[in-house]
Amino acid sequence: MSKAREQSHLDSDDPNLETFYGLPSEVQFCSRCVISNQRPSSVVERKNKNQKTKKDFIFFDEEGVCSACRWQDKKDNEIDWAQRDKDLMDLCNKHRSTNGNYDCIVPGSGGKDSAFAAHMLKHKYGMNPLTVTWAPNKYTEIGHTNFENFCHSGFNNILFTPNGSLHKLLTKKAFLNLCHPFQAFIIGQKQIAPQMAVKFNIPLIFYGENPVEYGNPMSEGKESLMNRKYYTGDSNEDLIIGGESFNKIIKDNGFHESDKLPYTPISPEQAELHKIEVHYLSHYHKWDSQECYYYAVENTGFQPNIRRTEGSFTKYSGIDDKIDPLHYYTTLIKFGLGRATYNACPEIRHGKLDREEGVMLVEKFDQEIPERFQEEMVEYMGITQDQFVEVIDNARSPHIWKFEGNQWKLRRPLK
Ligand SMILES: [Zn+2]
Repeated sequence: MSKAREQSHLDSDDPNLETFYGLPSEVQFCSRCVISNQRPSSVVERKNKNQKTKKDFIFFDEEGVCSACRWQDKKDNEIDWAQRDKDLMDLCNKHRSTNGNYDCIVPGSGGKDSAFAAHMLKHKYGMNPLTVTWAPNKYTEIGHTNFENFCHSGFNNILFTPNGSLHKLLTKKAFLNLCHPFQAFIIGQKQIAPQMAVKFNIPLIFYGENPVEYGNPMSEGKESLMNRKYYTGDSNEDLIIGGESFNKIIKDNGFHESDKLPYTPISPEQAELHKIEVHYLSHYHKWDSQECYYYAVENTGFQPNIRRTEGSFTKYSGIDDKIDPLHYYTTLIKFGLGRATYNACPEIRHGKLDREEGVMLVEKFDQEIPERFQEEMVEYMGITQDQFVEVIDNARSPHIWKFEGNQWKLRRPLK
């Protein structure tokens, strides 16, 4: 029996009630948006041994406002965006190629954010980007269409697809051991742009949003540069993927050393030698994902889904990988934060929704079970339906969930 089920009879203030993943034991919601204090900050995934290593969470100040909302205040009131725009032009001028090579790399799937970034850099700043895509676990039809439309709208692209047999196995282990089916994708996606930067000798890389925009520590937003810890590492270091030794997974399952390459970070020496700079475009441009969506529709042939995204109210966010709905379902299970929550927060911060509407959308959609691709994903990971249910149930932290009246309920729902 899962811990949360076992402890369902305990009151929320009972000292015996367990808290998983080092989460704050008292659930608190931001007074402006709909995020709770249970949102973990990004971690260096290739060192993520188990969920207990998650220790940093979104910060709430004495007024009960989250750091992402405070960051929005900075964006609205403090930052001189005209100056930042000039800074971006200077940066581009410094890196503009004189020998016909690409000027920069823009990683991304051809979704709204990367499409916006690549198109704006090319047409407003006169840059010639090489776009780089780490393949989704399993493309949705709309995702593939958007990827193709993006390339056809005028971009050079490298689509990198890792050894699918290994990637499936890593995803399976990450789901079974960590209830984190998106982990292998995240690791690969972080490495591919710096790897290509080294290969093609293109030092400048642009990502879109700095994670500070959605709740990583404010200190990470001071500079435009991504901390090198996210994409460099000792090449002899054994990575931990799916909670296990990567070397051992490779050896035990008959994979070749070269299969490790896509997941392996470049070394600090390589980064130094090639003068790799990874910048967040959100440092230079006031980021608003809904505006990126409109921009991408107009300029790169981006199409929203015909269906509403399961677990949310949107049709245009994270729609290219069939594993996305499951990923957000696991965040609901582990942290009590589902996809509607993650989608509503930026829209509230950008003034597109008010908090009351956000609360209503979370109540309506956050706990919706994503069924469309579930069977396909269970098959993809090579697990049984029973294993799937067991992992999900065991991942529920007792301080967040209780089983009552034959159903799972949040102990502290959003209000
Ligand atoms: Zn907030």
